[in-house]
Amino acid sequence: SISTTHPLETQRNQMKTITSILSLQKILSSYRGKKRIGLVPTMGAFHDGHLALMRTAKKECDIVIVSLFVNPLQFGPSEDLKRYPRDLARDSKMAESVGVDFLFAPMASAIVPPDLDTTISVSQVTKRWEGAARPAHFAGVATIVAKLFQIIKPDAAYFGQKDYQQTVVIRKMAKDLHFDLMLRIRPTVREDLYSGACGLAKSSRNQFLSLSEKASATVLYRALCHAKKRVDKGEQDCTLLQKEVAAIISLEPDVRPDYIAFCHPETLEPVLKILEKTVLLLAVWIGKVRLIDNIILANAPRHASL
Ligand code: AMP
Repeated sequence: SISTTHPLETQRNQMKTITSILSLQKILSSYRGKKRIGLVPTMGAFHDGHLALMRTAKKECDIVIVSLFVNPLQFGPSEDLKRYPRDLARDSKMAESVGVDFLFAPMASAIVPPDLDTTISVSQVTKRWEGAARPAHFAGVATIVAKLFQIIKPDAAYFGQKDYQQTVVIRKMAKDLHFDLMLRIRPTVREDLYSGACGLAKSSRNQFLSLSEKASATVLYRALCHAKKRVDKGEQDCTLLQKEVAAIISLEPDVRPDYIAFCHPETLEPVLKILEKTVLLLAVWIGKVRLIDNIILANAPRHASL
């Protein structure tokens, strides 16, 4: 019979979906020390942002594990855990298409048993911004990510810059708890600049936006780009920049800003003057949907000759 499979694809191993912690650990023990193991933690509902992380992991590691776990600990009481999009069949196909080796999809009861008595909280860097808006969120994230690091013991773990404060929390947690792994933070994947959703950061929450709300949401990226342009041209006054960003966002009546914050990239404390590296964090509400985005602003040192 004639095979219709592309020759390259026949070389690719099939992805295995694993639900048991012990089975996964048994498989991994045969690779440990010989192969570089990469982990991409996710909550599913895959989009190009997730796939980009998986592709990078595949390039840099021999074995790629994607964990798919809708973490109940990171949802607040008013946030709808039940509404979170779930489609294992679709997600499996997408992960397999980019060469993921193992999809680790444990039962909630295996990771968060009723008698779970240990949590991890990263205190200082969760005081503000998302941490203030969602009080139990980052302890939920840190606890589950630490568990995944413990279970899998990856050589490298991949996270998106899209959730900037989360990357700071995980970096700090990994440092404080002496996790011996490489953290790789990858750039935010955005909607096509020539589409109606021009520059909007990909997010599983975007599917809850109407078409007109999606169009309004493009203001986030426009506001971030404005700040970057102004800083690149030499503006350093964060109070002024903050006003300009707020003015741009206020042009979209259905977008309600929650915070517009110029911060130190590691402590996330607000700054008044652009530092060598400053992160601009944005959070807005559009209807019932909360969106976040960010950009790194670099105060390029001026050359004496210029
Ligand atoms: P989630 O499934 O939403 O918890 O996200 C899993 C990982 O994908 C996290 O490290 C996110 O930061 C990352 N991620 C989500 N959206 C994007 C995006 N648009 N670009 C790059 N990474 C993303």
